Amino acid sequence: MQRTGYILHPLYYEHQMGLGHPESPARLQAIEEMLFETRFYEELPRLEPRPATTNEIAYIHDRNYIQTIAATSGKTVYLDPDTTASPSTYAAALLAAGGLMTCVDAVMAKKLDNTFAFVRPPGHHAESDHAMGFCIFNNIAIAARYLQKKHQVGKILIVDWDLHHGNGTQHAFYEDPSILFMSTHQYPYYPGSGHFREVGAGKGEGYTINIPFPIRTGDKEYLVTFERIFRPIAEAFRPEIILVSAGFDIYCEDPLGGMLVTAKGFGLLGASLRRLAEELCGGRLVLTLEGGYSLTGLSSGVREVLRAISGKLPEIDSHLQGVELPETAAAARELFRRYWKTL
Ligand SMILES: [Zn+2]
Repeated sequence: MQRTGYILHPLYYEHQMGLGHPESPARLQAIEEMLFETRFYEELPRLEPRPATTNEIAYIHDRNYIQTIAATSGKTVYLDPDTTASPSTYAAALLAAGGLMTCVDAVMAKKLDNTFAFVRPPGHHAESDHAMGFCIFNNIAIAARYLQKKHQVGKILIVDWDLHHGNGTQHAFYEDPSILFMSTHQYPYYPGSGHFREVGAGKGEGYTINIPFPIRTGDKEYLVTFERIFRPIAEAFRPEIILVSAGFDIYCEDPLGGMLVTAKGFGLLGASLRRLAEELCGGRLVLTLEGGYSLTGLSSGVREVLRAISGKLPEIDSHLQGVELPETAAAARELFRRYWKTL
């Protein structure tokens, strides 16, 4: 059993991008209702998030951009073709980034083994100087730098299983060998980046691992990629903590995606990363909500991830028998062998 906590706060509902926008407060409501319906609401500690300071946001973002977002307070401002700031967006975005830091603090203090931050707005598309793809501040990238600056952590692994490529996170650490970024994503698709030949640059070459997947990739292909590519690279890298951009838009019925992952599949991915965290870094694992636009996918997917990271460690290996790596993942692995001899 692991000590698992989570973050959810009323202010995360206040960021609103307009009626009909898929990245809606109803997404958190679906998760919150699931927490009530399961044992989680009583059993898992709910942490109180704190807002990030502007100095912390500036670990990743330009000061001018932070000023631009601060100036949207109390207004509705269009930032990007699909991203809007509402009157409370700046406050919610500070609390989203801060929520992840609260999770990180709890795990580093050994108060909890792992945590899940149910925050809005999400973050992995946000670039240093602009909002993008429903994202304002790059919550997970800020938390990674915070770990290094405030907790003296050396090496961090970020896994991004969202449907979309985490361009903002990749760019933040593209030349940095201390932060290993590993992503699976539908490709070609929004935002356009994420080919496996994008491997990092300079000292960071080999520390960006992109696995592009074709449409209709399912549970077993995801799991075998995590276990046969992500696992050996992570074992060689030896991170001190694992951060996860958890997107539920790879769910089989997601309105924006074309993947076939089931609720059970999300549980297997959660279990795979929990096992890796227990083997490599004392169980330290922090997940954050990115995308996911089917309310059923969110409630059932998050439920299975919470089960996998909090309860008895589920068995994984039997699900891998006879499963081959998808073609694009196998091609990517050939390239990664240049950097990671354990592959
Ligand atoms: Zn997404």
